[in-house]
Amino acid sequence: MASDLKNNEQFQNSQKDPSANFRMTLPRKLILQCLKNAENYLTADDIFVALYPEYPGIGLATIYRTLNLLEEHEMINKVNLGDGKARFAYQEEEDAVKNYHQMVCKRCFKVIKFDEFTDAELDCIKNCQQRYSTQFKFKIESHIVQYYGLCEECQSLISEDE
Ligand SMILES: [Zn+2]
Repeated sequence: MASDLKNNEQFQNSQKDPSANFRMTLPRKLILQCLKNAENYLTADDIFVALYPEYPGIGLATIYRTLNLLEEHEMINKVNLGDGKARFAYQEEEDAVKNYHQMVCKRCFKVIKFDEFTDAELDCIKNCQQRYSTQFKFKIESHIVQYYGLCEECQSLISEDE
């Protein structure tokens, strides 16, 4: 009897929905909060440096693992800007299904998000989506467009250096 019960428990555990395994542990909460407060994309190292003074127990390996997990659950957004470092930003829950464009500064990794488009821009977006849907037989539900460049502050810092 006892062993039957045990087998049944094991069976139930293996049947669980994988998303049900997402628990808001302390490292997950801290990392999400850190990304939420940042106006820039952050690397795992940046997060480590930010959290370390208050939470010296947090390891870089945990941060990497947690970032991958949060990305899998679409709670954060990952970019690679060509310097070999993955950078992460917090993704609003509604952003996952919302259409928006964002500009990412290649120098300070600031993110400027916008979703207020003119009618002409909306037409342009609609035309693009119609063409891609037809060409790739893909039902588009939402989009995110990312522009890379230099923010105002970084542009002025660079011209001062020259
Ligand atoms: Zn910048």
